[in-house]
Parts: sequence; C-alpha cells; structure tokens
Amino acid sequence: MNDNIAAISTAAGVGGVAIIRISGPNPLAIAEKMFKPTGKTRVENFTPNFMYTGKIICDGFEDFGMCVYFKAPKSFTGEDVVEFHCHGGVQIARGVLSEAIRLGATAAEKGEFTKRAFVNGKLSLSSAEGMIDMINAESSALVRAGNMLYSEKLTSQVRELQSALKDTLAEIAANSDYPEEDLENLNEDNIADKIRLLSERLEALSSTYSCGRKIKDGVTVAICGKPNTGKSSLLNALLGYDKAIVSSEAGTTRDAVEGSVELNGVKFNLIDTAGIRECAGEVESIGIERAKKILASADVVLSVTDGSGAAELPETSAEVITVFNKCDLRKANASYGAVVSAKTGEGLENLKNLLADKALGELSLDKAYIIEQRHFDALARANQSLNNALENIGVFTWDILAIDLKEAWEALGEITGETANESIINTVFEKFCVGK
Ligand code: GDP
Repeated sequence: MNDNIAAISTAAGVGGVAIIRISGPNPLAIAEKMFKPTGKTRVENFTPNFMYTGKIICDGFEDFGMCVYFKAPKSFTGEDVVEFHCHGGVQIARGVLSEAIRLGATAAEKGEFTKRAFVNGKLSLSSAEGMIDMINAESSALVRAGNMLYSEKLTSQVRELQSALKDTLAEIAANSDYPEEDLENLNEDNIADKIRLLSERLEALSSTYSCGRKIKDGVTVAICGKPNTGKSSLLNALLGYDKAIVSSEAGTTRDAVEGSVELNGVKFNLIDTAGIRECAGEVESIGIERAKKILASADVVLSVTDGSGAAELPETSAEVITVFNKCDLRKANASYGAVVSAKTGEGLENLKNLLADKALGELSLDKAYIIEQRHFDALARANQSLNNALENIGVFTWDILAIDLKEAWEALGEITGETANESIINTVFEKFCVGK
C-alpha cells in the first residue's frame, strides 16, 4: 500500500477534540508541511508516541492542537501513522483533512485503516469484526462479546482446532509417504476417534451461537395475551417510555408495536402483539396473523394475564414466561413466572432479571463463543467436511480423507481471515465507518 490515506477518526459533529489520522508510507512528510511545533523539535525528528503541541496550518485558517507520530510497525495499521488532534468543530476537522488531502493523502475508504491493520497482520478478521461490534454495540453484553472477539479469544480457539487438524493431516501424510512401514497408531479407528472429537468440539462451539446471536441481534420478546390484560402498559413500563397506546377499550393495539431496550446489559426487542381474539374485524385479523408470525420468531414469549380469565398459552417453540399483571388490583391466583404491576412498577425488576437469565442461559461471557452468523456458517461447513471425512474412512483412500480435512481447516481459517477470499474480507470491512 503505497499511498497515505487520511480520514477524520472521531464521530461527525461538535465535540471537545477531533482526530484526523493519516496512515501510509510517509505521513510525517505531510505533517512537516502542515504542523508547526511550539517547541524546538522539528516534525521529522518527532519521537514516536509523543504528543507535540503546535499550530495546525490549513487552507484559510489555523488551529492550535497536537500531533503524534506512531512509527511502523508499532501503530494501529502497522504502517507509519500521524494523528492531528484539533478542536472538535466540524469545519475545523474537515479543513485539517482537506489540507492533508491537498498535500497528497488519499481520502480513506470505509474501514480502510482496520483493513490495513488486518493485511499487515496486526489483528485477525474476527478481531476486526469484534471491534466493530464494540463500536456499534447497543448493549454492554455486546461490548463484552465484541471484546472477546477483538482480544482474539475466538481466534485462539479456532487456531487450536486447526492445529489439531494439521496434526491429523501430518499423520495421514506420513502414512502416505511410507505406506510400507507399520506406523504406530495409524489405523482407521484411531483417526476416526480424533476426527469425531474435533467434530464434537466444533459442535460445542457452534451451540454457543443460540445465545451469541441474541447478544448480537437482541432477544426478541413477544408480549401476548388477551385484550386489556395490560400488554401495552407492560411494554411501555419495560421500555421506560410511552410507545404503545394504552386504553381500557379492548383491542386498541391493532398491530404490533415494538421497541428496543437494554435490560440488565442485554438488548431486548420487545413486541406487543395485537390481542389474539376470535371473531375479530378485518383490521384486527391482519394484526392476529402478524401476531402469530411474531410468536413463531420470538425467543421469549411473555404470556400476560390479569387474572380476569384463564390465560391463553400461545403455540410457540419459544421460552414462555407467564406474567400476572395488575398485582396492585388483585392477588395472583396461581403460580406464575412473574407477578407484576405495569402501573406501579412492582415486580418489574424481577421480570427483567428473569428475561436476562433466559437470554444468556449458561453462557460464560469470558470464554470464546460465537456471535457472528459468518463464523457460525464457517463452523458448520468445517463440521460438514469432518463428517464427510468420517463417512469416507475405510471407503476411500487416505488422500481423499486428507482433502476433507483440508477443507475443514480452510473453513476454520475463514473465521480468522487466514483463508478468507477478497469478497469475504470486503464484506467485513464494508460494515465499518470511514475513519476506522
Ligand atoms: P392491552 O390491551 O393488553 O394492551 O392492555 P392495556 O395496556 O391497554 O391496558 C388495559 C387497561 O388496563 C388500561 O386501562 C391500563 O391502564 C390498565 N392497566 C394495565 N396494567 C395495569 C396494572 O398493572 N394495574 C392497573 N391497575 N391497571 C393496569
């Protein structure tokens, strides 16, 4: 990469400070022309990682700020990097960037700094994905999960699996090279056991996606029950603001109303379904159809009753929590998952805890787990290749088996980026913003 790229790295808008970053073969040459240090040290003699104060000279104005130089390879991108820290005004930041571009830098594309970091081996592809998850996170659980990826926890687990696969491949290769020698341990059962063990480890990792997906996308909670039981009120109470129309007239919530909220660190997508009723009018029956679809895709269903009639338990494969609402009016007449009052807020904390428990289950947030569909798909392909290998043992020659194992190895490499093709890499970095 023989060009210097430049971008505003801080968010667009007004703030205390804005940072403009330049990365490439010689960003210091650009800095020499647009930064006049306060002290005696000239820009070309800047000590890496030290901040220097001075004037940032732009076309039409100057600002007083700071400049720092990171020397390759000890920088974010692995290239030489210069950062200007100017006052955080939109026009100031744009002016500094324009000046850098006028002096020869190219405007960076989305995620180009991180892409260069990846290409220069500073981080893996999954680490870059974790970073963007952290930046875009709408819940603290996703910040944590993103950091798990960013700090290469998944990478090291994937590399362990790859290394076990390589060992098995080496064993097979040794046998193919010296077939006449009676190699100790190389028999079909022994290799099959090793592959089976690997497949089990892949499956265990894949199974974490059922929770990991919820951390990434949010837990979908459908609130259902008979009209007037207080579903809309409960939605509003959980969201913390008025979103659904609350009325004492049955059937007011004609269609699904939804909102997202972070409860106990986890993102929840709450959907208040229209009252599921028999003999409904046309508008309402459209709502009922939607309600059924929502139930089918929900992770958790809150089945709300106010004790005025029997609760209808919906047909769903989701976890159902029965909620007795309006406990300020009457006592719960049976045992329920949660007893609340959407009006007074009683019992809501318990309900939030229960929802967060259901969302994360037994998942330990500090170990490696899967939160990205892309990683889940790659694991599934790797596992498919292992299963093919198992089926091929004893049927085909060892070289055919080796092809299956290599395919599994390559599929795993897509997670870390080692074997990812240009299109996979571009898809990942397209999700980034300019300046990252
Ligand atoms: P929905 O049809 O199930 O969505 O029910 P709404 O949320 O529209 O509520 C129906 C009526 O019950 C409204 O008059 C609410 O003010 C009332 N309501 C809802 N929750 C409670 C509660 O916890 N306590 C009391 N006393 N009234 C409630």
